[in-house]
Amino acid sequence: MWQAQVFTLYPEVFPGPLSKGLYGKALSNNLWKLKVVNIRDAADDKHKTVDDTPYGGGSGMLLKADVLAKSLDENKNESERILYLSPKGKKFDQNLAKELANEKSLSLICGHFEGVDERILSTRNIEEISIGDYVLSGGESAAYVVIDSILRLLPGVLGNENSKLDETFENGLLEYPQYTKPQIWEEKAVPDVLLSGDHNKIKHWRLSQSEAITRVRRPDLWENSNYQLQLCAWQLFLHIFQQ
Ligand code: SAH
Repeated sequence: MWQAQVFTLYPEVFPGPLSKGLYGKALSNNLWKLKVVNIRDAADDKHKTVDDTPYGGGSGMLLKADVLAKSLDENKNESERILYLSPKGKKFDQNLAKELANEKSLSLICGHFEGVDERILSTRNIEEISIGDYVLSGGESAAYVVIDSILRLLPGVLGNENSKLDETFENGLLEYPQYTKPQIWEEKAVPDVLLSGDHNKIKHWRLSQSEAITRVRRPDLWENSNYQLQLCAWQLFLHIFQQ
């Protein structure tokens, strides 16, 4: 069973959104497990101090390395990967989600204030991971994001396993537009092709929509997509073949 351990100063916010719907059901069916550790429990002094001012000056407070280390050492599983959610980190993406879904367990540290004492990262072999180029007030919502993206990849958690294969990023493309009833809504009709019943035609239409959307919205994805490389190789092959 895949397990997440979250180190936080606000344990009461978990499982939060992860307790709803299919994830909640999967949690009670033991398809995944969540352990929430209150970092403050590792503070030794009578005020339970977890933070202090930065050396060299500057605004804000930092999570203390000694407190965080004690919390990690007492609670983390042997040889599991530890992520510190941080805007300075490597950008989180679908490939990393897949990688982490294949591990047995994962620890996530939610920072607060100005962040953490840098020394904790190297001494505990911690990977810094960012969910995007913006700054949050704390790592909890970033932890939801990371865990959410992993849970949907775990076997049995989502009802329909096939739904994952069609999804945005799966083939290096963004997903095509989708429609449901009513067929005409506010004078806008669903594209005819989707009503044709011709599965081949629908497949082609969806692929061309995916390509067009990816090119316009995410030229970076389009440039790097395997799909694009495969297309080039295929065109080259046809070109040589026709010579
Ligand atoms: N002073 C830091 C920002 C700290 S923000 C800096 O400039 O780099 C406070 C906490 O919010 C961080 O410790 C981190 O856990 C979380 N956080 C903020 N932005 C994040 C992001 N983009 N991705 C992941 N975690 C983030």
